[in-house]
Amino acid sequence: MEYVQERPYRFRVEPRDGMRAPGVVFASRELMRDAEKSLEQVVNVATLPGIVGASYAMPDIHWGYGFPIGGVAATDVADGGVISPGGVGFDISCGVRLLAADCDRQTLEPALQAVMDGLGHVIPRGAGPGGVWKPAGRQELESVLEGGSRYAVEQGHGNERDLRRCEDGGAVAEADAGQVGERARERGLVQVGSLGSGNHFLEVQQVAEVYDESVAAAFGLARDQVCVMIHCGSRGLGHQICTDHVRAMDSVMARYGIQVPDRQLACVPVDSPQGRDYLGAMAAAANYGRANRQLLAQAARRVFRRTAGAGLDLVYDVSHNLAKIETHRVDGAERRLCVHRKGATRAFPPGHPELPEELRGVGQPVLIPGTMGTASYVLTGVTDGDAFHSTCHGAGRALSRHQAARTIGGKQLRARLEADGIAVRPMSPRSLAEETPEAYKDVAAVVEASEGAGLCRKVARLVPLGVVKG
Ligand code: 5GP
Ligand code: MN
Ligand code: MN
Repeated sequence: MEYVQERPYRFRVEPRDGMRAPGVVFASRELMRDAEKSLEQVVNVATLPGIVGASYAMPDIHWGYGFPIGGVAATDVADGGVISPGGVGFDISCGVRLLAADCDRQTLEPALQAVMDGLGHVIPRGAGPGGVWKPAGRQELESVLEGGSRYAVEQGHGNERDLRRCEDGGAVAEADAGQVGERARERGLVQVGSLGSGNHFLEVQQVAEVYDESVAAAFGLARDQVCVMIHCGSRGLGHQICTDHVRAMDSVMARYGIQVPDRQLACVPVDSPQGRDYLGAMAAAANYGRANRQLLAQAARRVFRRTAGAGLDLVYDVSHNLAKIETHRVDGAERRLCVHRKGATRAFPPGHPELPEELRGVGQPVLIPGTMGTASYVLTGVTDGDAFHSTCHGAGRALSRHQAARTIGGKQLRARLEADGIAVRPMSPRSLAEETPEAYKDVAAVVEASEGAGLCRKVARLVPLGVVKG
């Protein structure tokens, strides 16, 4: 695949054969070598009707279902722009929540093992059923689908301040529980408040480095402070919704005269009955994912209070798998766009009206998990951001699960991490091995490329003290 470097950290694939926009990849030269494997998907996305700007890829790009993971694409709603479930992914509204403890590492030290034991005991994980909370029935599941974190807080699981620190105030307004199928509901009913498998985790971390003191302070972060990072999504419910709606779109796409180079890019106009159906179902799954993170955060709060006498304040909660209708200025005109971010994080700049007042001066906290053995980052949005105010979402996978598990055994990996001072509470040795830090790209390089490309700015680096792994 041919591409040119436009400037440092920015590469471009010129439009050709059916592409309606160029491809743009944000990466260093070194990361670009890895990104090349997924360029075909960047190019495929560029053929989608109504695409605006470019088919973008973040530095942590890797192969995904239809769209690459690390892909961002916006389509013009009023101009036949399409929505594609593949541009959101199976784990709808998968995302990250960061909480800051009111203690530092030294203070927590004597209680750390007890904290980890407590978390290991109460945090449900793995692929199957089980959650910290069971909705009373179908009716209450609907309340979760429509109310997200807001509903969880109304039921006593958290406080009003939490909601201010959640994207969308904790709930997407457009949820349509009626578009959530029977099977999705069945799966959702028994997994509220659970991590899920493998890549999902709850990690106790320490702020190891602060790059911008005043922004960190506005976020509620300082050097040596203890934090809790939660990464999970909408479990089987989101997965089922994606499956159901891909199938539905696949069967009607031709009626809209839409052709795609890959069936996994099934899509319909945003402004069509099937497009609206998916948006409603996707929003319901997004709310489920947010309630999920809210409930897990509450479980972590109880453990911290009981075992360490410490409190946890929410820094922020943001999805990295979602499509949203947003207004952006394109070529001087305001346009309503459907922005797909799949394995990419929204990064609103300082002054954005959707940020809570206390963050408006500094920008949106952007939460970037790295690996359980290296580091994670907190970034912030910047004024002249690119790709519709988006940035990376993690280190990004470099090895498949299977390849990763061949490099090291779970028991050996656990011993290595523990020797590095990281307490590990795994689901199984196999699932731990699949997540070995070597399975991911270098998160520091990904963050440097994201910042270098002008997508965000570094605020703090966090290192793991203990991890509860899915
Ligand atoms: P994804 O949403 O694509 O599954 O994962 C997002 C990112 O989470 C990955 O790209 C990886 O960098 C990061 N990640 C996966 N497992 C862990 C973990 O146990 N701890 C931390 N800190 N990050 C992780
Ligand atoms: Mn996920
Ligand atoms: Mn995720």
